[in-house]
Amino acid sequence: MQITKPHAALLASPGMGHLIPVLELGNRLVNHHNLHITVFVVAASDITTEKISQLLDSSPNDHLDVMLLPSVDISGIVDPDTNMVTKIVVTMHESLPALRSAISGMKIRPTALIVDLFGTGAMPIADEFEMLKYVFIASNAWFLATTIYAPFVDKKVLDDEHVDQKKPLKIPGCSSVRFEDTLEAFLDSNDPLYHGYLSVGREISTADGILVNTWEDLEPKSLRALRDGKLLGGVAKAPVYPIGPLARTVGPVSENRVLEWLDMQPSESVIYVSFGSGGTLSSKQMIELAWGLELSQQRFIWVVRPPLENDVSGSFFTVGNGSMGTVDYLPDGFLNRIHNVGLVVPMWAPQAQILEHPSIGAFLSHCGWNSTLESITNGIPMIAWPLYAEQKMNATMLTEELKVSVRSKELPTERIVERQEIEMMVRKVMLDNERLGIKNKVKELKTSALKASSKGGSSYNSLSQLTQDCENRLQCLKVKAQGA
Ligand code: UDP
Repeated sequence: MQITKPHAALLASPGMGHLIPVLELGNRLVNHHNLHITVFVVAASDITTEKISQLLDSSPNDHLDVMLLPSVDISGIVDPDTNMVTKIVVTMHESLPALRSAISGMKIRPTALIVDLFGTGAMPIADEFEMLKYVFIASNAWFLATTIYAPFVDKKVLDDEHVDQKKPLKIPGCSSVRFEDTLEAFLDSNDPLYHGYLSVGREISTADGILVNTWEDLEPKSLRALRDGKLLGGVAKAPVYPIGPLARTVGPVSENRVLEWLDMQPSESVIYVSFGSGGTLSSKQMIELAWGLELSQQRFIWVVRPPLENDVSGSFFTVGNGSMGTVDYLPDGFLNRIHNVGLVVPMWAPQAQILEHPSIGAFLSHCGWNSTLESITNGIPMIAWPLYAEQKMNATMLTEELKVSVRSKELPTERIVERQEIEMMVRKVMLDNERLGIKNKVKELKTSALKASSKGGSSYNSLSQLTQDCENRLQCLKVKAQGA
């Protein structure tokens, strides 16, 4: 294909939770900013060409190419029980030669490479090919500030005060991170993950720019800190572009029994329950959740995965692959009793379409940032049920700062949340007076999100700046080529 527009490449880390926001960014750049985009996808067992085409089918575009890089075998490098983040980091590292050869084989080379959080190892490749390099943080500004500030925190403060003595980690200009909410990577300074994560924090700042999936009015304080040369000790050297919310846009809806069922339910009467692309619960917790939903007497849709005992991110790479097996881990007779009131969906549901549906009244979510934004942009109140990664920080932000969710008294990763508490939370967000306050708050955020991404809005303008940078680089390269 003859490429006539400025051209940028995006690199997506393995896992649907990473691929989805990268594709959304690609779509936004193509549709609103007139770029040509090539997305390089690092293979993982849950990413098949079929899944990619399903995602692309919802918004087909001639100016968005997707290239699935060959899968790499990491079984000789990491133990099967290694944590999910280390597997992602190693997979990314092993995929770099394939990325390099894919870029060098392109007839028209992109002028910029945009990598996500785990793709910073690819930035030297951008340098090799004289491309601009950007990092896209598919999460919020508070998480970004924490990630880039952590490598510069005195080791005594991070390891002794924050981790051992469980004191909050101060992030200048931003909210502190409570120990209970902290990132798993900080917990053990003997784990290679600790050092790997701190290196990523350092590398992010060396980019030409950092894109973050938030918007000015959602996180003014953290964004100010990121831009202030002094507040964060000047660690955020690269310009920060808040470009969100990049929540999934829904294309033509194919026939689906969940959506058909939703069509038959009254307005705002259904709570949607899902733990993202990889979240799993223990069998005891699943039983309590099933009872809690039943006792609440509210309609629900629950995306169910087989329980895993000590691994909250257990399905991250594999969801959509494995079969569900029998659902004998749900309480006896549960499926019969909830007939007509609830729908249990195995493994994966069309979440973006579900959350847009007028019958949805609330979302019990693991607080992954994509799910969070999909909820906010649809004005849906939440029950925050964080499991892993930065989800505990997100849950705190949603409940205490933005006030668009309720949550359990103790973290679900610390203690089983019992049926009575679940029943109470569901009734709070679906029925009680508290719903009204939350609903108003989340509607305000929905409006501000729409404003930020519309033409002339703050996030729209940030992406325009990026497009301009790509065009300028293209002109420079042309001038250089003419001079040579
Ligand atoms: N998702 C979906 N169906 C499911 C579960 C998840 O479509 O059954 C999508 C969801 O809409 C979101 C993404 O997968 O876009 C999950 O991303 P998030 O950041 O919320 O969580 P993660 O999977 O990264 O933990």
